[in-house]
Amino acid sequence: MKKTSILIVDDEPDNFDVIEAFLSGQDYQLHYADSGSEAIASLNILQPDLILLDVMMPGTDGIELCRRIKAMPQWKSVPIVMVTALAGKQTLARCLDVGADDFISKPFNRLELIARIGSMLRIHDQYQQLNALNTELETLVQQKTAQLQALIFEDALTDLPTRYHLLQLLSKALECKTSNVAIAYLDCDQFKLVNGAFGYLVGNQLLQAIAARLKSLLRPGDVLARVGEDEFCFLLHNIPDEKILNFWIQEVLQAFDTTFEVDNYQIFMSVCIGVALSNNTYDQPETLLQAADTAMYKAKLRGKGCYQIFDHQMYVATLLRITLENDLQQALEHHEFVAYYQPIFSLVTNNLVGFEALVRWQHPQRGMLSAGEFIPCMEETGQVVRVGILVLRQACQQLQAWHQLGWSELTMSVNLSVRQFASSTLLTDIDQIIAETGINPACLKLEITESVIMQNAEAAIQLTEKLRSRQIQICIDDFGTGYSSLGYLHRFPIDILKIDRSFVSQIEPGNRHYQVVQTIITLSNQLGLTVVAEGIETQEQLQYLQELGSEFGQGYLFSRPIPAEMIEKIFLKDCDKRRFNVSFES
Ligand code: C2E
Ligand code: MG
Ligand code: MG
Repeated sequence: MKKTSILIVDDEPDNFDVIEAFLSGQDYQLHYADSGSEAIASLNILQPDLILLDVMMPGTDGIELCRRIKAMPQWKSVPIVMVTALAGKQTLARCLDVGADDFISKPFNRLELIARIGSMLRIHDQYQQLNALNTELETLVQQKTAQLQALIFEDALTDLPTRYHLLQLLSKALECKTSNVAIAYLDCDQFKLVNGAFGYLVGNQLLQAIAARLKSLLRPGDVLARVGEDEFCFLLHNIPDEKILNFWIQEVLQAFDTTFEVDNYQIFMSVCIGVALSNNTYDQPETLLQAADTAMYKAKLRGKGCYQIFDHQMYVATLLRITLENDLQQALEHHEFVAYYQPIFSLVTNNLVGFEALVRWQHPQRGMLSAGEFIPCMEETGQVVRVGILVLRQACQQLQAWHQLGWSELTMSVNLSVRQFASSTLLTDIDQIIAETGINPACLKLEITESVIMQNAEAAIQLTEKLRSRQIQICIDDFGTGYSSLGYLHRFPIDILKIDRSFVSQIEPGNRHYQVVQTIITLSNQLGLTVVAEGIETQEQLQYLQELGSEFGQGYLFSRPIPAEMIEKIFLKDCDKRRFNVSFES
């Protein structure tokens, strides 16, 4: 190990001898320079760890020499101890001013000399350690920043540019205005099913395989990015006309005709594509991307493997949609939502058994709007969570009021959407509403659709179990329209199946709808579930459903959804409050 090296600068060699004698017991390597110029010349060779510097020297004095050494970056941190016989305050101040670290006065005291040198070297050592740590930290920060930047710009799974990176490239392309730029937005059809069936690992490998296949379709100069979990985007330059564009899109769609081989599975995957052309009318990259996304969404509505080019009509629809979103926000603030109630009857006894609460929007200009006109939009924006709780509260308050009037066996069904079901506060909200309204939870039925289960079956099972442990009943709404209904039925803790209106409305003895309804009823009987038929509009439909053994039903034949006051006038006016034998046959 290199010995600690001390440079002694003094015009008097005797002083060096004294110091050498005093430090003889210490493990230092001492060097001597008799002038400033010699000292400076020897720095690089001697690499001192400390300098003892005489203040009074002919030529360059100690103070000037100290200033020069401290001005050199590589020697700046080496401690300099000034040695002076006449330690006047002014001299000391000047030494400090030029960067000296300590003083020692002549004649030397041995112990003091050893102590001062030791203390300076310790400080210097700590300083160097700190410096090294700092450098290490800086390198680490630089590495991490580079990694983060890479993550922001490059998708780790596919090595493709990210959405952020794509937006930057698109922004540059739009600035040029020299070529017609287009965005083709691809979304895999029902990718969630792959994750569900094969697991995330296979899902990820499939995404990599899709990325590789799409890369092979890249035209020179174009960009392919991964912009969402199962979403990819092409940034296309120089699109001469729509004919060529259509041709290219067909090519991309055809690329999905062949299955993907992943982990020894042959997986078929299709995509929907939405395309938006800049036509030099878009300045903002986000707007063009949004337009392509909207077009893709439209394509999805038509089915798997479809494509759509964004057009003016869609632009208008988007505008209307944005207006609707804003209006809905205002409506929430102005308390424009109310619950209507549709009666549910026993098809065996003709008795009124309960209601389904359906939200209505008292629109200031357009009048009363049905849920179907705004709930899908609210579902997308997430506003449905607020409005859903509002309806649940109103419906529970109303049920409690009717129970207290003596109609104590009536039940209340309330719809819960996917977003509400995924809301982290759902259980506490429900508990709070039950507590504040005082209703009997056994009279509350929550209607969920199969899509709620499809989103995350395990979480849905856990949540429904918690709801049922509170005596709340669970109903699958629009049954028969979702996926894999039979697969989860035995695992899913439910009480009621609601046959979707689409089967009821077309039911004719012997036709397919009749058979579906029959199957659902048989299945429910076997699983011990109750069946409710919804959307009954005609006497014939009622008759068929009764023949098939549907226990309960609701529909325009009996009543449309109506306000609470009308329910009271029409259905709850009977003096004998225990019998709800409302005949709907006449
Ligand atoms: P849903 O729960 O299946 O409700 C039945 C829909 O069919 C209601 O439409 C109802 O007015 C309508 N309907 C009832 N009987 C008949 C009939 O005989 N013929 C016809 N043609 N239609 C009938 P609405 O009120 O527009 O609600 C549509 C959907 O919006 C509901 O379907 C439900 O999924 C959702 N929704 C309604 N209210 C709420 C709510 O408070 N919260 C949540 N999350 N969703 C709601
Ligand atoms: Mg419903
Ligand atoms: Mg329904």
